[in-house]
Amino acid sequence: MALDADWAERWVRRTADAIADAKDELTELDRQIGDGDHGENLDRGFKAVVARLDDAGPGPADERTVGDVLKLVATTLMSTVGGAAGPLYGTAYLRAAKVSGRAQIDPPAVVAVLEAALEGVSSRGKATVGEKTMVDAWHAAVDAAEAAANDGGSELDVLRAAAETADKAATGTIPMIATKGRASYLGERSAGHEDPGARSTALVLGAALAAALSGPTSADPRSAA
Ligand code: ADP
Ligand code: MG
Repeated sequence: MALDADWAERWVRRTADAIADAKDELTELDRQIGDGDHGENLDRGFKAVVARLDDAGPGPADERTVGDVLKLVATTLMSTVGGAAGPLYGTAYLRAAKVSGRAQIDPPAVVAVLEAALEGVSSRGKATVGEKTMVDAWHAAVDAAEAAANDGGSELDVLRAAAETADKAATGTIPMIATKGRASYLGERSAGHEDPGARSTALVLGAALAAALSGPTSADPRSAA
């Protein structure tokens, strides 16, 4: 299973679908500890990304790199998503794009992509682990992916480790007290609710795995071309 630009495009399209499906759930999570716009924000952003993919896409299909696709996501999210999540995800995808400017990525390169995304989020948001933000999900995913790659795991093993661990880490934010972002205004009252950004991160990484498991389909015109 090659993780190439077509995989990256499937990843992005599946992310858009997953975010659209979970839009109300993400908004409800954000209503509990924020301002109730996280689902709307990301849905608007990823719909814009899909529109740009449908339109011109990131260059000729046989010349595109994984990084070209991720860069298109970054620039689109930065210009269409407001609030904290736009710049945070935008920076994550931009940093990830910088380390994936090649036709295919192998397991260590998948780890490098996730690491770059984590660095982007944490430097932009000045947050570290345990502050009840999306950093908690990204950080756990990087650790798990790195362990899977060091064990000699395949691309699928690495993506599965990242996705499953991010999902658990998102749930793991429930008892935490937020010390960064809007939720930190609630202090101890932020405990007992899942962080919306950690949940959306789990959806993003779940989509990366699903895209690798699915392979090209006819429903995905650019990758079938
Ligand atoms: P806003 O908080 O501006 O309304 P969103 O609702 O779209 O933006 O996104 C909120 C999410 O962004 C939070 O759930 C959290 O995961 C993440 N977040 C907020 N501030 C930070 C930060 N400083 N560092 C990392 N992540 C953050
Ligand atoms: Mg919000």
